[in-house]
Amino acid sequence: MTLADDLAARFGQALDTRPEALREASRDFGRLVRATPRAVLRPTSATQIRDLLQYAGPRHIPVGVRAGGHALYGQSQAAGGIVVDLRAMNRVGPVTGDRVTVGAGALWREVLAATLPYGRTPPVLTDYLGAGVGGVLSAGGLGGATHRHGLVADQVLELEVVTGAGEHRVCSPGRDTALFHAVLAGLGQCAVIVGATLRLVPAPGRVRRHCLFYDDLARYLADQRRLAEEARFPYLEGQVRPLGDRGWRYIIEAVAWYDGPSPPDDGRLLDGLAHDRAAAESTDLSYAEFVHRVDTDEELLRTTGEWLHPHPWLNLLLPHDTAGPVVGSVLADPAFADLRTTGLVLLYPLVSARLRAPLFRRPPGRLLWVFALLRTAPPDSHGTAARMVAANRAAYDLARAAGAVAYPVNALPLSAADWRDHHGTGWQSFADAKRRFDPHLVLGRGPGPELAPR
Ligand SMILES: Cc1cc2nc3c(=O)[nH]c(=O)nc-3n(C[C@H](O)[C@H](O)[C@H](O)COP(=O)(O)OP(=O)(O)OC[C@H]3O[C@@H](n4cnc5c(N)ncnc54)[C@H](O)[C@@H]3O)c2cc1C
Repeated sequence: MTLADDLAARFGQALDTRPEALREASRDFGRLVRATPRAVLRPTSATQIRDLLQYAGPRHIPVGVRAGGHALYGQSQAAGGIVVDLRAMNRVGPVTGDRVTVGAGALWREVLAATLPYGRTPPVLTDYLGAGVGGVLSAGGLGGATHRHGLVADQVLELEVVTGAGEHRVCSPGRDTALFHAVLAGLGQCAVIVGATLRLVPAPGRVRRHCLFYDDLARYLADQRRLAEEARFPYLEGQVRPLGDRGWRYIIEAVAWYDGPSPPDDGRLLDGLAHDRAAAESTDLSYAEFVHRVDTDEELLRTTGEWLHPHPWLNLLLPHDTAGPVVGSVLADPAFADLRTTGLVLLYPLVSARLRAPLFRRPPGRLLWVFALLRTAPPDSHGTAARMVAANRAAYDLARAAGAVAYPVNALPLSAADWRDHHGTGWQSFADAKRRFDPHLVLGRGPGPELAPR
């Protein structure tokens, strides 16, 4: 019996080998690298995932895991192997007060659709709600509430997983802790997340969003730092936008929640800040409108076709002390000049003590900065996309020399030595976890091509 016949006999209808299914599993949101699997498994139960890993492990068949499909550089692909597409495992609920149990294939917008009718929300959300639960928990998950509450992954109360060794287990901060810590922000390298129990908090009815404009980077950084350390707003992010031919404008996005008819006192919330008062903008929205704000961008970019173009994105975490010079150098680099006409630059602070998942690497110091360079490449020029990925690497090298680390949802080529360096003193415990939970090294490509520890 051939391997294909054997797989078909074992997994029946759940195994999809249609050319269009293989094509879909061979690409991701990044649209930069492609690896075709031999089959896609669409499980509806943890047992099927367990059976697959027990089968694939001893045979050394690579297994990729996919939830929402927004990886940027092939992280959920599996050349010649099997991609587990979890989208069918998207059950959410029931919502019980302060928690909800969700399937790892659910998208965050499906989670919100189930919790908001009960007046509940996860305390931290990423900007985009179309990503999958499994994918965001594997990355860590950063958003405007992270400076207060930590990562999206830090809100997990319990995980149901299948390890690379094919063991179906439940883990939490108090149960099978080593496995719990090897999975959150672990890029799917030790286990497949089947489901997660997430902490919920009361959702505010309305939000008041302030956009505060700065022409001076140092003043922007100082005010952002102050707002993050004082935790003055429940949500804090920021962007950099082009100003004229050469300059940049920095925008704090500070959002306050409220219930009832009266918004919070702007004077008190904005007191002592050095923004351009005449340019400041304030808007009132419902909480649901606010958390779904990127849906409109997605719709527009789907209409123009750009949503399906290559995305050579780079996400860096900068130490506070060197953030100013690194941001200045990268924005002045001609290789990133296209950011003046297209794409998005995010720059906002996080408080290190709030970030708990041990596998989430961060630079030293109490405060760090998310610096995201989100670009789109033309669809028909492989050379341009390759140059943009090379520019990512150069920016990463510059930032790393200044103490930065990557937030590894990137289009960024890394060597095995880079990946080891990324983990710093945590490398040995990560390598031990990998050997223990995925002894055949079949799961997950980490941040890019084949970087599992050996
Ligand atoms: C428009 C847009 C906006 C974004 N904004 C933010 C943001 O504000 N903050 C932020 O932190 N990130 C953001 N991201 C990045 C996004 O959170 C990550 O790329 C995330 O990993 C995508 O998850 P996915 O399930 O959609 O992708 P997938 O491609 O399905 O998975 C991504 C990774 O997770 C692994 N994985 C997926 N499911 C599982 C599972 N069940 N078990 C184990 N491993 C699994 C995959 O193997 C792969 O390595 C954004 C992405 C996009 C496209």
